[in-house]
Amino acid sequence: MRTVHVVGAGLAGLSAAVRLAEAGERVALYDAAKQAGGRCRSYFDATLGLEIDNGNHLLLSGNSSALSYAELTGGRAALSTAAEAVFDFVDLPSGERWQLRPNPGRLPWWIFVPSRRVPGTSPVSYLAPARLLRAKPDNRIGDLMACSGPLYDRLWKPVLLSALNTEVPDASARLAGTIIKETLGAGGQACRPVVATGGLSAAFVEPALAYLRRHGAEIRFGERLRAIGLGDGKVERLSFASGETVLGPEDELVLAVPPWVAADLLPGLQTPDAHRGILNVHFRHAPPPCQPLLVGMVGSISEWLFAYPDRLSVTVSAGDRLFDTDREELARTIWAEVAQVTGLAPELPTWQIVKEKRATFAATPAQDARRPGPATDYPNLILAGDWTQTGLPATIEGAIRSGENAARVLHRGAIGVFRSVSKA
Ligand SMILES: Cc1cc2nc3c(=O)[nH]c(=O)nc-3n(C[C@H](O)[C@H](O)[C@H](O)COP(=O)(O)OP(=O)(O)OC[C@H]3O[C@@H](n4cnc5c(N)ncnc54)[C@H](O)[C@@H]3O)c2cc1C
Repeated sequence: MRTVHVVGAGLAGLSAAVRLAEAGERVALYDAAKQAGGRCRSYFDATLGLEIDNGNHLLLSGNSSALSYAELTGGRAALSTAAEAVFDFVDLPSGERWQLRPNPGRLPWWIFVPSRRVPGTSPVSYLAPARLLRAKPDNRIGDLMACSGPLYDRLWKPVLLSALNTEVPDASARLAGTIIKETLGAGGQACRPVVATGGLSAAFVEPALAYLRRHGAEIRFGERLRAIGLGDGKVERLSFASGETVLGPEDELVLAVPPWVAADLLPGLQTPDAHRGILNVHFRHAPPPCQPLLVGMVGSISEWLFAYPDRLSVTVSAGDRLFDTDREELARTIWAEVAQVTGLAPELPTWQIVKEKRATFAATPAQDARRPGPATDYPNLILAGDWTQTGLPATIEGAIRSGENAARVLHRGAIGVFRSVSKA
């Protein structure tokens, strides 16, 4: 029986491994780190004295691959899914608050109901992103819709910035169009917020590892892949820091490492090479009673406020501009904004700032064009990762879908559909 070696145990590698195990393949999973989860995991933070996530992650109920993966592995219980698509917003400079409430069905009658839409906007202004749905690969959002005005500032900017993690006018209109199609365009039923209130690892990592163990997979941490031995038109050897693994004649490799690692391991492979950071500021303070799980913040540095039972946590997307700011000064500024939104006392609670410098690839048309598909010129080498061509930006849904794509290509033997790695 052949072995499929999956290198990289982030969500892309875990998703590929789970789908392959489900299909009856023998899987060996490796990761350089001491744990799985990559950019989407939980850990104990000694300063806060709490288990936290490396970053606040928001999904929507339309993220079908992510939810089906959580269902299959048993992680669904750690996810809280809102009963309705309701998004609380506050404009900090004016203090104005509102709720965005798309109706469940596909026909968007909610835009005609003032109490369901953004204050100060007209129904017709909601049609502005329609052109994104027909975007060409080289279109930027700024080419197809006006990136100014009340609706842009209060809806499209916060939503698209968090989905794309890239300055909105420069971001890929095609990727934005896919996001809108699969969420708002599919009706409120597909836009209900989903948050891993039980922790990212409890939702997406630990259940997947348990599933793999139940299916006889071999799982090895602390195994950094240093080189891929190519010969006779296929992968023959994997050189790990701890030693060499020789592939059997039928064995396969799913490479699910970050793009810069894949490019080092496979000279000639083109991958996205520009990235954007995400900043998270965590405060050890329980939310006040009735605090919504998620609040969009407009006109402030803070963009989204997450209320977990034991902490309040703020996300700033494309937050690279803040990475050199004095940490304490930043924590004080952000807490002042949180205190304004929640009504909590201004005294700064225990805090932690987590900076992920290469959180996602920059979702620009130029970077999107550098994404390879899963199949390569080497018949037993398949790529996975949020940076491979999924049609989505770098998200949990994209990572999990890339793992499914890799498993599908490998399992059907349909290699050669997307040629990306040159043999030269
Ligand atoms: C702070 C932050 C906030 C985010 N917020 C959201 C959000 O709100 N919603 C959303 O949908 N998405 C969000 N994302 C994006 C999401 O987390 C990623 O798209 C997803 O986790 C990427 O998974 P991956 O498996 O493709 O990559 P990774 O998680 O990077 O996995 C790659 C794995 O490869 C391993 N590896 C690297 N080199 C080697 C080697 N040489 N040998 C063996 N193993 C190796 C790494 O240790 C890692 O485990 C966020 C990301 C961050 C960082």
